Amino acid sequence: MKVLIIDDSPDALAIAKARLSKDGLDIICAEGGSAGLDAARRENPDLILLDVDMPDMSGFDVCRELKGSAEFQMVPVIFLTGSTDVNDKVKGLNLGAVDYVTKPFDAFELRARVRAALRTKHLQDLLVKYSRIDPLTELWNRRALTDHLGQEWAKLQRHGTPIAFIMSDIDHFKRVNDTYGHRIGDEVICRVANVLIENSRQSDLPVRYGGEEFAVLLPDESVQSAATLAERCREEVENIRVDAGGEKVSVTVSFGVADTAGLSSPEALIESADAALYQAKNTGRNRVVTARAEQTVGRSTLT
Ligand code: GH3
Ligand code: MG
Ligand code: MG
Repeated sequence: MKVLIIDDSPDALAIAKARLSKDGLDIICAEGGSAGLDAARRENPDLILLDVDMPDMSGFDVCRELKGSAEFQMVPVIFLTGSTDVNDKVKGLNLGAVDYVTKPFDAFELRARVRAALRTKHLQDLLVKYSRIDPLTELWNRRALTDHLGQEWAKLQRHGTPIAFIMSDIDHFKRVNDTYGHRIGDEVICRVANVLIENSRQSDLPVRYGGEEFAVLLPDESVQSAATLAERCREEVENIRVDAGGEKVSVTVSFGVADTAGLSSPEALIESADAALYQAKNTGRNRVVTARAEQTVGRSTLT
């Protein structure tokens, strides 16, 4: 894990670095408050050790800035304080720090406090990760989609980068459950999810949207290339065979595809793909339908 140490004194940095390097941590040093903020943005540390007294910017100000940004809200800060003044310690903790170590620090105490903070950070990272992953398929879940779509929408507004979106739904899936049971139904869901994972690029976000509904968010793609991907997935799903006590179970999937051209909100993108999916269902299932211009909702606010 990566630890950033921010202190105006090169000696203090060297000592802290020497003491912590023994634990196999990746240590980055920044001399002073504003250099520390820059290093935090660049290095994305798991923990920040922060000196209180620095001439350019006090540790309290640095902490205030870190905790005020979404990016660092969850990154633990431990204050390094020369002061034994209780008020300073209370102030640091109230600003969102998890702990403090008094200088000159005892090597064992510093290492123990750093390890404790990193243990909590690791568990916190796992919780955040699991809250965004669907346990059955290990696809991203709807919460992750909402977050990611919000970020991509912000990029679209800044740089005009388009986003394509695929919504899909297994056809007549209820029959699979009713005929072969939920366990086989679950396996079908996982196999369909794998097709989406295998066909997605690193930058795409394959999602389990609901029970037997899936989505793929494709940043920087048009409806045409997303439709090509959907068509490839559709064909691959047709070839899935799940063994149910000697019987081979197969399914088909319907797809609706849209992109952000002419749309004014992330919700409109999902609605547009959903409307196309609805059409795919109504015109025979096992097909890919792309959103037509007249299906778009609202007017573009983009230039
Ligand atoms: P359509 O072609 O119109 O989509 O028909 P359908 O039968 O697929 O749609 P419907 O919405 O009627 O049924 C979806 C079924 O998916 C009902 C529900 O029990 C099942 N389902 C939802 N989540 C899960 C799951 O996690 N595991 C299993 N095995 N079944 C699920
Ligand atoms: Mg269905
Ligand atoms: Mg459904």
